Amino acid sequence: MVYKWLNNSLNKLFPYFCALCGEPAQAHIAICKECHNKLKYIDNKCTQCAIPLTGTAKNSICGQCIMHAPHFDQSTSLFTYNTPARQLISRLKFHKKLSLAHLFGTLLAQFIEQQNRENLPDCIAPRPCSPVTQATAR
Ligand SMILES: [Zn+2]
Ligand SMILES: [Zn+2]
Repeated sequence: MVYKWLNNSLNKLFPYFCALCGEPAQAHIAICKECHNKLKYIDNKCTQCAIPLTGTAKNSICGQCIMHAPHFDQSTSLFTYNTPARQLISRLKFHKKLSLAHLFGTLLAQFIEQQNRENLPDCIAPRPCSPVTQATAR
């Protein structure tokens, strides 16, 4: 109860503004509803590596994962890499807008909670940006 009161007070003192348009945002998240609706969530993806799939049944595994099974059972991704998600990812990765990490983390948590309530992940791990960083991360 104290946490909720404190959180609501902080939101009034330090309101969130949309990371895309700069307008007042939703409570506890730095994106307005209009811009949030512009983000294109991936509706069909490989259940193992989470790449977008086209022309296959939902919840299937891609050919790459069938040929070379990754060392994890399941992963997820949120958006197609198009505008406006691409803008946000670029700002986070290349312009050090670290506040966007909170936005993506919140959106990921909301997505997992909505989609996967009975099968919550054991852990959340970042995926390296490129094969070069993947090689050095091992
Ligand atoms: Zn906005
Ligand atoms: Zn896959």
